[in-house]
Amino acid sequence: MLRAGLLWLSEQPRVFAFVRGNGLARRFAARFVAGETVDDAVAALKLLNAAGISASLDLLGEAVSGAAEARAARDVYLQTLDRIHGARADGHVSVKLTQMGLDSDEGLCVDNVRAIAARARQYDSFVRIDMEGSAYTEMTLRLFTERFHPEFGNAVGVVLQSYLRRTERDVADMIARGARVRLCKGAYKEPPEVAFPAKRDVDASYVRCMEQLLERGTYPGIATHDVRIIAHAKAFARRRGIAPARFEFQMLYGVRRDLQHALRREGWNVRVYVPFGEQWYPYLMRRLAERPANIAFLLGNIVKESVRLS
Ligand SMILES: Cc1cc2nc3c(=O)[nH]c(=O)nc-3n(C[C@H](O)[C@H](O)[C@H](O)COP(=O)(O)OP(=O)(O)OC[C@H]3O[C@@H](n4cnc5c(N)ncnc54)[C@H](O)[C@@H]3O)c2cc1C
Repeated sequence: MLRAGLLWLSEQPRVFAFVRGNGLARRFAARFVAGETVDDAVAALKLLNAAGISASLDLLGEAVSGAAEARAARDVYLQTLDRIHGARADGHVSVKLTQMGLDSDEGLCVDNVRAIAARARQYDSFVRIDMEGSAYTEMTLRLFTERFHPEFGNAVGVVLQSYLRRTERDVADMIARGARVRLCKGAYKEPPEVAFPAKRDVDASYVRCMEQLLERGTYPGIATHDVRIIAHAKAFARRRGIAPARFEFQMLYGVRRDLQHALRREGWNVRVYVPFGEQWYPYLMRRLAERPANIAFLLGNIVKESVRLS
């Protein structure tokens, strides 16, 4: 109920206009979003690098409405790669195909992603193609396997979601191709025909896919904050003699920062997904929906703030 309400709110532009003008909400957003500009994102990246953590920078926004908007997003990504390179920072970018124009024009989307991947390759960097709702899974994997991966090799990688029933097959396919995979649980609302409705099945699928990727994959990204799964990954890697350099843990900016730093201190590779840009409101609402306890954190801040002001 609460989750559905938050997801509904995430799609209301009027609410966004109100929230964006509200200083407190912006400060709360700052925990999960690096800021609105490329400068903000690169500053966050440098701070993470100082703690030995790398990052993937993500320009917020999806499903753009026209070619001009898609090209503008592409240009921000090109600028972001230039800035990461100029700062000699350890980071790359994550891109959504609908933000590159997939809904309106597949050719335009392909051209935009190719431009970003070419720039990334020039800098010996990397582009992760994020995975969106299941309506896009087949198309994303087709474009990845037929266009992007053959042309750019492991300068590009893809994301697979363990909540989808098809994912174990996709994991096997990506392993056979030697492609780089980020494994996550999946963040969208999906029907039971395509995704496991029960969390325990999603988690079990995650562990099966993760073991395959750790053992036979190409530098997989284990993207989760689930401490049981992370413990399982560490134990599995140790037992099978999989060196820490062969994979990385990935987490979201502002989520379980304690765990991010603890893993790094233990010697594991850690990458943080750093969202930035003006479209932070829907992203923030999805993070709240994922973990309603964050609302308590937000309300706690409001109370603290009002006490300080009074
Ligand atoms: C690096 C990265 C990239 C991602 N890319 C994609 C993508 O391309 N496509 C996609 O569909 N999804 C993506 N996701 C989101 C992912 O699918 C999940 O929705 C999200 O990570 C929560 O799942 P979890 O694995 O952390 O496990 P959960 O079982 O949801 O959570 C485990 C524990 O983590 C903590 N936690 C989880 N979320 C939060 C939060 N918001 N705030 C505070 N604590 C939290 C809680 O302690 C919770 O008990 C990505 C996630 C990460 C970390």
